[in-house]
Amino acid sequence: MSNSGLDRVAVLGAGVLGGQIAWHSAFRGKTVAVYDPFADALEGARAAHENCADIYSDSLGADRAAIEATRDRLTFHTEIAPAVGDVDFIIEAVPEVPQIKTDLYQQMAPLLDDRTLIATNSSTFLVRDFADATGRPSKYCALHFANTIWALNVVEIMAHPGTERTTLTAATHFALEIGMVPIPVRKEQHGYVLNSWLVPLLTSSLSLVATGVASAEDVDRTYMIVNRGTTTGPCGIADMVGFKTVYDIASHWGEVRNDDHMRTVAAFVKEQFLDKGLQGMMGGEGFYTYPDPAYQAADFLDVPDVSKVSEIVNAALLS
Ligand code: NAD
Repeated sequence: MSNSGLDRVAVLGAGVLGGQIAWHSAFRGKTVAVYDPFADALEGARAAHENCADIYSDSLGADRAAIEATRDRLTFHTEIAPAVGDVDFIIEAVPEVPQIKTDLYQQMAPLLDDRTLIATNSSTFLVRDFADATGRPSKYCALHFANTIWALNVVEIMAHPGTERTTLTAATHFALEIGMVPIPVRKEQHGYVLNSWLVPLLTSSLSLVATGVASAEDVDRTYMIVNRGTTTGPCGIADMVGFKTVYDIASHWGEVRNDDHMRTVAAFVKEQFLDKGLQGMMGGEGFYTYPDPAYQAADFLDVPDVSKVSEIVNAALLS
């Protein structure tokens, strides 16, 4: 048994982050049941896992046996009971919508073994918001992973006042076992550390595009030139996060905080992307088209040719 004792895992939600957490945990030796009530979401996760297989082979040097073993440790479920009934640890990665999370915790509570610990991967909610709904508040905390988990191996650990030390100890061991750098969040904080700066960055950047101040490419150019060496800018990051989650966060916090910037972003994302069926990078199109987005072109940050002057002046001329 591992130090954490968390070897049999269930991941709830097979979307952008749930898919990554499931694959990565399985790659690092955990047995993982993936639950999503929507069969097409599970199909999407399987497709994303094939992409992960390529990335883990190419970037992490995983051999064929390691990839096969990862596949063998994963199972997929549209029914919740077989997924969660006999696991040590549950990682919840369902939409950033309070009612969806609450309903799921309440549905799941009577199905769990006494030993089972639960973590939420929520980006912006407090652990205390859902602790009672789990029916086991002392065994509940947050493990907030970052998108592209194989490369950005950071995980934020946040408790609520009723979380037991043994829960945090096991969750921290689990983080180490799957190769994460744990970041303890020392006070309860909406957005933890990462999203306390990332959400404002994305909101202000997307609202520049939504209000026509700058193009997505130019927002990203400024960011990538000023942060030389970075591989993408805020609009590229929004593509990676996925527009469903960007929308959920902007619409919820826009209302709760009476924040016009966030409301503008929510309306823009709905109209420009979600209503047109564009999900972002995972669906192949968002601000950019994938797999070869413009920001990865060799000349994206170059000084433009003199022939571009009139195009630039046209954009700068106020009408
Ligand atoms: P997503 O929309 O890509 O995926 C959510 C998945 O949950 C979907 O597959 C959906 O079918 C499924 N789902 C819906 N209702 C469900 C239910 N009742 N039970 C089980 N599954 C259900 O969302 P995401 O971007 O993966 O975000 C999931 C969570 O992870 C959110 O809390 C989000 O804030 C957090 N998160 C997201 C990112 C990111 O970059 N996308 C990063 C860190 C954390």
